[in-house]
Amino acid sequence: MRQAYDIVIRGGRVATASDEFDADVAISGERIAAIGSRLGPGKREIEASGKLVLPGGIDSHCHIEQLSANGKLNADSFASATISAAFGGTTTVIPFAAQHRGMRLREVVADYHKLAERGAVIDYAFHMIIADPTRETLEEDIPALIEGGHSSLKLFMTYERLKVEDEELLDVLATARKSRAMVCVHAENHGVISWMVKRLLAHGHTAPRFHAASHARIAESEAINRLVEMAALIDQPIMVFHVSTAEGAAVIRQARGRGLKVFAETCPQYLFLAENDLDRPGVEGAKWMCSPPLRLAADQEALWRAIALGDLQTVSSDHAPYRLDAGGKFPSGEASTFKEIANGMPGIEARLPLLFDAMVSKRRLGLRKFVEVTASAPARIYNLAHKGSIAIGADADIAVWDPERTVTLSDAVMHDQAGYSPYAGRKLTGWPVEVLSRGRVVIERGELKAVRGSGKFLARSAGEAGVPASLDGSRGGEDSGGRLRALVL
Ligand SMILES: [Zn+2]
Repeated sequence: MRQAYDIVIRGGRVATASDEFDADVAISGERIAAIGSRLGPGKREIEASGKLVLPGGIDSHCHIEQLSANGKLNADSFASATISAAFGGTTTVIPFAAQHRGMRLREVVADYHKLAERGAVIDYAFHMIIADPTRETLEEDIPALIEGGHSSLKLFMTYERLKVEDEELLDVLATARKSRAMVCVHAENHGVISWMVKRLLAHGHTAPRFHAASHARIAESEAINRLVEMAALIDQPIMVFHVSTAEGAAVIRQARGRGLKVFAETCPQYLFLAENDLDRPGVEGAKWMCSPPLRLAADQEALWRAIALGDLQTVSSDHAPYRLDAGGKFPSGEASTFKEIANGMPGIEARLPLLFDAMVSKRRLGLRKFVEVTASAPARIYNLAHKGSIAIGADADIAVWDPERTVTLSDAVMHDQAGYSPYAGRKLTGWPVEVLSRGRVVIERGELKAVRGSGKFLARSAGEAGVPASLDGSRGGEDSGGRLRALVL
């Protein structure tokens, strides 16, 4: 008599980034033990006929319990954000351990671990925000932390408290190359934005809709271009965060065409919302303020095209929750100008349902591409072992989706702490009904079963994506910078 599996998800349709097939999925302990037809009994059985059995989502860019650019803590704790993520079918998050100027990176990361250990209900890794690339940060803390499994860094080219100058950016790229880490970047030209902000305010243009105007489109494409060229000089792989414009996507496409190791993402807000969402009475438009700002319908189409072509590999939430009060979006109440209003919107829970509705229910790019951009590609790029697929031996991180279920999004449907959803009123088809994280049922028939602190830190090396192009054998001697680098690195 065969030993029973711990859990069998029975009779569903399984999808990965490459295949779709009908199968039972059996789990023993934390891992997927078998995939097949008529598998033996499970101590627990999850009926999935008529349902889709998909890898849990990986949200590789979300702000949780983090001190942000305006010096404020955002509205979510690890518990509230990861519970919200799980309700939306996400089983791994990569939030940010954020260094601000004057802070010791090593302590920032240690403190952030404590918060995650206490609250997370799903697994997590960190990106380390580097805002103060001192000698100590570059030569001691970053190499030691990479060694400890934190293999991605994040830099800001804008925001007064966080931005790095070009020389500092080169320093960090060189450090990442030496110790092997992915470098993720918020690429917008700081000077252009701050010049625009001053001029707009001087002319009395203070409403939220002027936020979009202040982040001129060229601020993005110029900064991405500058970043790409500096990364090419150093021969360091990069990930360009939240590409929002057609021109930005075009810069990425050209860089990849040159054989540079440039990865890029966009976010649901740039695919489903647009600049005119900001145009509301009073300060209501603040709900739709994020950076880069929402753009035009033509940009949405260009970004979908870039996803189809593989120029953009992942779609993350950039979840950045602020409440609609003086402690959140509105430091000066109704009188807050667009410059004072905190940037960012919640989306950790709505990300997958929005994309499922568009890609699967409405058939734009299809189910396998949905799995790829939401789970498999982030697992590969950020080197998350055993994540992002349904395979024997993989972690049992699984979302069972009801493809027929319709849900109208509202402020009350979401479980994060922002208190509103920028997508309220949208009717979506397809919803995750059962969610498992390493074999633990965290959402059961839409009910929360998760235990705070049950999520685990995922230590990782940079993996294949983080290997410099000139060293990974893919670049056929085209790199001409080797002699130059030998002089300076
Ligand atoms: Zn962000």
